Amino acid sequence: MERFFPENRGTFPVITALCDLPRSSGWFSYLKISSLVVAFIVATGQAWGAKEKIRFTLVQIEKRSYLSLANLKLLHSDLTVNYNDGEEQGEIRFGKRIVLFSLGKAEYQSQNEIRELDSEGVIDDDGLFFSREFIEEILTELSLPVSYRFQKNHLIIVRDKEREGLQKLDFIFIDAGHGGRDSGALGYFDAAEKDITLSLAHELRKQLAADYPKLKIYMTRGGDKFIRLEKRSELANKKSTPGNFGIFISIHCNSHLSPKVKGFEIYYLAQNPDNKQARELALRENQGSEKNGYIKRLTSRLMNAQIQRESKTLARQVFKGLSNRLDGMIKPRKVKKADFAVLRGSLMPAILIETGYLTNRDDLKKLRSSEYAKAFVSGVSRGIGAFLGELSKAEK
Ligand SMILES: [Zn+2]
Repeated sequence: MERFFPENRGTFPVITALCDLPRSSGWFSYLKISSLVVAFIVATGQAWGAKEKIRFTLVQIEKRSYLSLANLKLLHSDLTVNYNDGEEQGEIRFGKRIVLFSLGKAEYQSQNEIRELDSEGVIDDDGLFFSREFIEEILTELSLPVSYRFQKNHLIIVRDKEREGLQKLDFIFIDAGHGGRDSGALGYFDAAEKDITLSLAHELRKQLAADYPKLKIYMTRGGDKFIRLEKRSELANKKSTPGNFGIFISIHCNSHLSPKVKGFEIYYLAQNPDNKQARELALRENQGSEKNGYIKRLTSRLMNAQIQRESKTLARQVFKGLSNRLDGMIKPRKVKKADFAVLRGSLMPAILIETGYLTNRDDLKKLRSSEYAKAFVSGVSRGIGAFLGELSKAEK
C-alpha cells in the first residue's frame, strides 16, 4: 500500500505539527509526538535580522537524536515526503531534487548515487523518525533555502531567500594551512606541514591563474606567517560582496600515530561529522582557536544549507579531479565531513584538502616532489572546472 502524506499548508507551524501525524502509526506516535513541544517560533530581532526562527525538538531514541516525520515536513512548505509501507522505502522531494531512503539502512540515494551514513537514517519507532545526521544531509542535498544549526536536542531553522545559484565565479581564495609559530603536523626529516602547504598553495595559485585568467586568485598567506583561523575566512569573506562569488580552498597535511596510514581526503563542513577520527582531526586542526572563544562564537552561527551543498559538490569534484590526476601517487581515501573552524567561518563554498600523511614515508616523499605538485594543482583545477559545470547544469 502506498502511503502519501499531504503537503503541509495549514496553520504554521505549531498547529500543523500537532495535527499532521503519520496516518497509520497508531496511538503510540500520537502520544509521543503530542507530548513534545514540537515546534515553536522564536521571534528574533538580533543576529539575523527580523527573520523567523523555528526551533524543532529532536526526539531521543536509544541515545540518538531524531526528527519526527511531521516535523521534517515543516522544514519547508514545498518539501514533500512519500513513503511506501510495503517496500519500506520513501522519497523526499524539493523542486527537482529528490532524496530516496530505505527504512533501517545506513545510506540514502541522491543524484543517482548511494551515499553512506554513519548509522541508520530512518527508523520506524511507531512512526518514522529521521536521524540528525540524515536531516543535515536532506537539508543540504535538497538545497533548501534555509540556514540551520543543531543545538543540544534542538534543530534551529531560519528561512533564507533562495540563494542566487553560483553560476559564475569571480575569485578563488587559497589558504595554506598553518604558518609562522604554528608549524602544523610534523613528519620525517623535520618536514613541517606549514612549509608543504605553502609551497603547494603557490603552485596552485600559478595553475589557477593560468587556467582561469578571468578569476582573481587570492592567498591567505604568501610567506611563513602566522594567521589566526578566524582571520583566514574573514579575509575571504571580505571579497565576497553582492554579485561577487568565490570559493575557499584550504590546504593541509595529516598525521597519524601509525606510520602506515596514508592517503588524501577532502573535507567539507558539517555539524554531524562522520566519525571519531574526523572529530579528532577537527580538534587538531582547530587548535589555537579554542582559547579565544572563536569556536564558541562560530558554533552559534547558522549554516546556510545551499552553501553547504555547494561545498559538498566542490569537495566531490575536486576529489575526482585529484584521484584522476594523482594516478595512485597518493591514494584517494574519501570525501568526508568535519567541523573545521576555518571552514565554519566561511560564507562561501569551502573545502579543506588533507593532501597526505607526513607520518607516512611514501606520502611525504610525494608531497615534496615537483611531480606530485604538478599533478595536485592540475587535479584541483579540473575539479573546480567540473564543479562549475555541475552547478550551472543543476540550477537550470
Ligand atoms: Zn593542518
